[in-house]
Amino acid sequence: MHKPLPESGRDPEDILAELRSFGAQDPDYKHSRVWSLVYYLDQAHEDFLGKAYQTYASANGLNPLAFKSLKKLEDDIISFTAGLLHAPDTACGVVTSGGTESCLLAVKTYRDRAKALRGVSAPEMIIPTTAHVAWEKGAEYFGLKIRWLPLTDDLRTDASQLEGLINDDTAMILGSAPEYPHGTIDPIPFMAEIAARRGVPMHVDACVGGFILPFMEMNGRDIPPWDYRVPGVTSISADVHKYGFASKGASTIIYRDLSYFKHQMFVSQNWPGGVFASPALLGTRPGGAYAAAWGALQYFGIAGYRDLAARTAEAVDRLSAGIAAIPGLRMLAKPQGPLIAYGAADAALNIFSVGDRMEERGWSLNRLQFPDGLHGMVTARHLDVVDTYLGDLASSVEIARAHPELAEQGAAAVYGMIAHAPFRDMVRSQVLDTFANYYVPQDDPSGKAGPF
Ligand SMILES: *Cc1c(COP(=O)(O)O)cnc(C)c1O
Repeated sequence: MHKPLPESGRDPEDILAELRSFGAQDPDYKHSRVWSLVYYLDQAHEDFLGKAYQTYASANGLNPLAFKSLKKLEDDIISFTAGLLHAPDTACGVVTSGGTESCLLAVKTYRDRAKALRGVSAPEMIIPTTAHVAWEKGAEYFGLKIRWLPLTDDLRTDASQLEGLINDDTAMILGSAPEYPHGTIDPIPFMAEIAARRGVPMHVDACVGGFILPFMEMNGRDIPPWDYRVPGVTSISADVHKYGFASKGASTIIYRDLSYFKHQMFVSQNWPGGVFASPALLGTRPGGAYAAAWGALQYFGIAGYRDLAARTAEAVDRLSAGIAAIPGLRMLAKPQGPLIAYGAADAALNIFSVGDRMEERGWSLNRLQFPDGLHGMVTARHLDVVDTYLGDLASSVEIARAHPELAEQGAAAVYGMIAHAPFRDMVRSQVLDTFANYYVPQDDPSGKAGPF
């Protein structure tokens, strides 16, 4: 039976109270317990973003000629971002609904560019094994073949393999700053030199790094070159709704110049609904998200973001050192931004069991595979909980080691099975079945919660 709408409308205060109550079982991000998904500062900032969002909540950025205010907000966001990325004056782009939209658009743009300029009908893209999964999604949606750049033994992108993967069908090359799984910055100058020499566009995915790496660099941290100062980089994506601390629903994609961006645009001159042109994936584009993003950028300014970056870097340093000092743990890579990844240093310790023990202590962490690991997107607020986290981690390791049978139970067993099953197509179809099942109508949706 489907849930009926209320017969008549309800009192707004009741509705708001109920909405707030729904979140009671959600991960506790307000106390920095969550290490992914959420970028939260404090209630005052949350309230400010809410008010900024509200100013344009009904406004629609679909047609840039209709709401000139939204076009101005978008132009400003693109311009501020282009400046941070050291883009040339010719740089142009759009605000998108999120990192995934920005990545998908780059795939579509370079596919269409390869077709228009070189008649490529079976386009390919070269992406590192650690590229965000949005790129794989883009390849699947838009019909490109992926050529994977392998990793070296120390989990860095093996850029020495890049040139050998380029052929006449290569539509784009990707590098990440930083990549999500292990938090390292790909060797962008090396890759971009090859890309430029071979005439292939190169996108840098700075969805997670775009609003923190520039400020870490200003603070004097050693950040290898990755932005428009590297010749050969033709576009960059950067999410305002991650380290820009905007409301959800705001990312950017910026091209070196219009000659690239033009291939992103869609035009229909024959639609009975009117001549239609659109610069990005969405039709209706949420004005509120633009206003909140614009508001966040103004609120922090360079000094505010530098302060956030400094606190984040301090947290990353203390976490990395603390994790490496726990017997049985090792950092999977040296962080070059705000992400940390660590795993077991010896085969006797099951890192997924450590993850379960951390969850029991109220932490919410993501799991990695190839190799098994635990992950954290570190924010300034995590600086407050570094010692508690490390203390809990040390005792979680002790318990996991003392009770190896725990690795065969709970989420650890599921993650272990998924990560180590040899038949990856079977894993895929089982995950698909389980996942699809979450969407089967049910009386109590909370009844089927699982590990992914
Ligand atoms: C988060 C992220 C994305 C995708 O962004 P969403 O906003 O989650 O869609 C893409 N690339 C990288 C490197 C990311 O960290």
